[in-house]
Amino acid sequence: MESHPSGTEEPTSPGSEDPRAELVRLVRSVRAQLEELGAAGGWGVPLLGRARMAASAAAVAGHGAAPSAEPPPRSAVAPPAPPPPERARPEDAPLARAAEGAVAFGQAAPSDGVAAAIEVAAAGAPPAAATVAAAPPVARPAGAPVRLPLAVEERLAALAREASACQNCGLHQGRRQSVFSRGTGVSGVVFVGEGPGEEEDKQALPFVGPAGQLLDRMIAAMQIERDDVYVCNVVKCRPPKNRKPEPDEMARCLPFLAEQLDLLKPKVIIALGATAVQGLLGTTEGITRLRGQWKTYRGIPVMPTFHPAYLLRTPQAKREVWKDLQDVLRRLRDDASDASEPT
Ligand code: SF4
Repeated sequence: MESHPSGTEEPTSPGSEDPRAELVRLVRSVRAQLEELGAAGGWGVPLLGRARMAASAAAVAGHGAAPSAEPPPRSAVAPPAPPPPERARPEDAPLARAAEGAVAFGQAAPSDGVAAAIEVAAAGAPPAAATVAAAPPVARPAGAPVRLPLAVEERLAALAREASACQNCGLHQGRRQSVFSRGTGVSGVVFVGEGPGEEEDKQALPFVGPAGQLLDRMIAAMQIERDDVYVCNVVKCRPPKNRKPEPDEMARCLPFLAEQLDLLKPKVIIALGATAVQGLLGTTEGITRLRGQWKTYRGIPVMPTFHPAYLLRTPQAKREVWKDLQDVLRRLRDDASDASEPT
């Protein structure tokens, strides 16, 4: 054993060390890696590496996380872990999943989500403590329907056909096809953006370009199935050269969005970017001022936040968006627990 700067004893021989001391050493090693990555401004692929490290740390702590499919970085390699002292607890899996989801979106800094998850795993604290710093899991409730009522599905499909033939504003002239929606919305979450871009216009699906891929990571970080959210735009046809839709175009298209929301009756709407907020709420306030503050659309809570395209240009704003998404998750969780309480 050698003396560690912190005053604790560090094991030197893999075969002779105490499993808890080994865990502490591994966690320190992982944290050092995370701090290096954070200092280097690592996002994207390195962050996925962080998630795997977090999951590995939780797994080593005997908390039921699935082992990583890839080996850890060389500097984080630990001696073979001894068998867990007690049986892994399946109920602890959300700990690692929450950390991994949060980091996959790419917002979590070493000081919050992942590091907190690692520390909680190392300390053996219950998973509830970790989910405060990471994402509260909101999976589809057991027994919840995976499809909307048939009448709603049919009316939405009819609306989509109407939009494809619509010529109520000048945007129809430049479209390849209208872009109506994707996903079912059975989670009660609807994302509203401003309008289709080039890739969306080609595929007739909203949010399928680079910004859409980031949106998918945001949804995954919320631990909601991609197809359980409903994604649509204020205008259904692509504005030329990806310009913002004009107020008149938004006003002419709004009846489609209004009926979509009336049919879906979401628990929460997440408005992505200033134009979406403007189209939905009629406000001209800037998104920087509005984001993170609950608004209401016909009695439905609306969370304004930054558009994923902005996050691609300004990755440091992911932290604010993650706060907004966590607020949404808390609201959904509180609504779910209110609904389950006996009256
Ligand atoms: S943007 Fe909306 S209102 Fe304009 S043509 Fe397309 S569907 Fe019709």
